[in-house]
Amino acid sequence: MKAPALSQFLEQAVSLLGEGAVKTAPSDLEPYCIDWRKRFFGKAAAILFPSNTELLAKIVRLANQHQVALVPQGGNTGLSGGATPDSSGEQVLVSLARLQQVREQDAVNKTLTVEAGITLLRVQELADAMGLLFPLSLGAEGSATIGGNLATNAGGTAVLRYGNARDLCLGIEVVTPTGEIWNGLRRLRKDNTGYDLRDLFIGSEGTLGFITAAVLKLFPKPAGLVTALVRVGSATDALALLQIAQAQCDAALTGFEYMSAQSVQVVIDHFPEVAKHGAQIIGSAGSDLSDSVLIEISHPASEGAAKEMLESVIAEAITQGAASDAILAQSMSQTKALWHLRETITLAAAEDGVQVKLDIAVPVSKLAEFITEMDREMLAEFPEIRLHNFGHFGDGNLHYNLGAPQSLAKGLSAEQRRAAYRTYIEQNEERLRRKVHDRVVAFNGSISAEHGLGQLRKAEAWRIKSSVELGLMKTIKQALDPNGILNPGKVIS
Ligand SMILES: Cc1cc2nc3c(=O)[nH]c(=O)nc-3n(C[C@H](O)[C@H](O)[C@H](O)COP(=O)(O)OP(=O)(O)OC[C@H]3O[C@@H](n4cnc5c(N)ncnc54)[C@H](O)[C@@H]3O)c2cc1C
Repeated sequence: MKAPALSQFLEQAVSLLGEGAVKTAPSDLEPYCIDWRKRFFGKAAAILFPSNTELLAKIVRLANQHQVALVPQGGNTGLSGGATPDSSGEQVLVSLARLQQVREQDAVNKTLTVEAGITLLRVQELADAMGLLFPLSLGAEGSATIGGNLATNAGGTAVLRYGNARDLCLGIEVVTPTGEIWNGLRRLRKDNTGYDLRDLFIGSEGTLGFITAAVLKLFPKPAGLVTALVRVGSATDALALLQIAQAQCDAALTGFEYMSAQSVQVVIDHFPEVAKHGAQIIGSAGSDLSDSVLIEISHPASEGAAKEMLESVIAEAITQGAASDAILAQSMSQTKALWHLRETITLAAAEDGVQVKLDIAVPVSKLAEFITEMDREMLAEFPEIRLHNFGHFGDGNLHYNLGAPQSLAKGLSAEQRRAAYRTYIEQNEERLRRKVHDRVVAFNGSISAEHGLGQLRKAEAWRIKSSVELGLMKTIKQALDPNGILNPGKVIS
């Protein structure tokens, strides 16, 4: 792209959106050019804040005319670098943050139609005010936007019962890469009228179109919700516990999150207060610490029924030797404390320093075997590596994360520690990543269960996917985005 084209584009963008909606100063741009984990540092020519779909469509048409690359961004909480521009300084970020309208609330149809820039937390609150539930839930929900959730097909902690973002969406509105508006805001649960375009855009990580609004599926609120933290001896025990819970609870089982001892250790290291509540069950530190599972039961009848169900699961698990102890939350604040421990793992890991972050899925029946074999193989080659595994065990999805050896940090300040870990990870990342991914492939699994490819996993996906699959993806991209202006360098381009 030639510089005059970029400056003409920016001049016309200012006329369209107004000065306040086009930022070009490096200090204004910086926070939007770094990803949440601080792994990707890009440089953008500008960030634009269109306030409605029509203005965004005009911007996209302008970008095609001047061959300017656009990078969609929501809350910038993505974990694959998909919303970070490249380092050329020529790409233009487009924030969806000002698309904030609630378009329609339909309690009878149990749907909520909102614009893309609304945060997930706000969507949950809107559903709650309608007396209903929007079950998508994840650690970054206060900042992540519903557009970003759909663009990444986010998962989170309730997939086991309600499915991922794709399953929670009935329709979308999209600005295509050539600047057309597709109104697919259908509030239908059945619609077999040709190719499913909605599902094509969901999960496309901003490479096939801007999602500008969505019809979300709502559910009745459960009458009773109970959570327990259960001490297990291993991933094999966790799988046995899952079998018991599914047999006894069926659809009432709404959460089943696994935390390895070392993943909790990292919370103890950096946020000891957060780990305090669970400590009596899973241990406090070092060799005393065990693996654990957070189970959530949502019962349609009552709190008492939910409690009874969960107590029965725990009793059976202890009888079968799959669990050795458990704590059942007795109040909402205890429930929150247990979930807070689980949700703080990502934050504590970021505080600890750079890790190799993997987001794998294998069939649920194979997950325990995968963890056991992978841990053994990993420790044989990297005896000091820290295995910070945790995740959505009930979905077969594990964040198989690898932390640098703690011995590297001896006597160092926090800043020096982070630098030492970064160097270690940068030196070993490719080997570690390949090792895990090769085993994932052997287990017929996925190298990205819920975080997407972005720029982080693009090369690995290209290594692993068949030429037929890659060819089909490239054909779709070329057909929708002939000028290659939308989020180049991500996923498939
Ligand atoms: C602490 C923490 C916990 C997390 N837990 C989970 C979890 O449990 N499950 C999970 O799945 N993820 C999780 N994430 C990752 C992240 O929150 C999700 O990927 C989320 O869906 C991203 O939303 P966002 O608005 O921040 O998107 P961004 O980070 O801004 O963008 C993500 C991708 O989507 C594209 N994009 C954004 N908005 C749009 C749009 N409107 N139209 C088209 N493309 C768009 C971007 O170009 C980029 O490729 C977590 C992140 C953090 C920091």
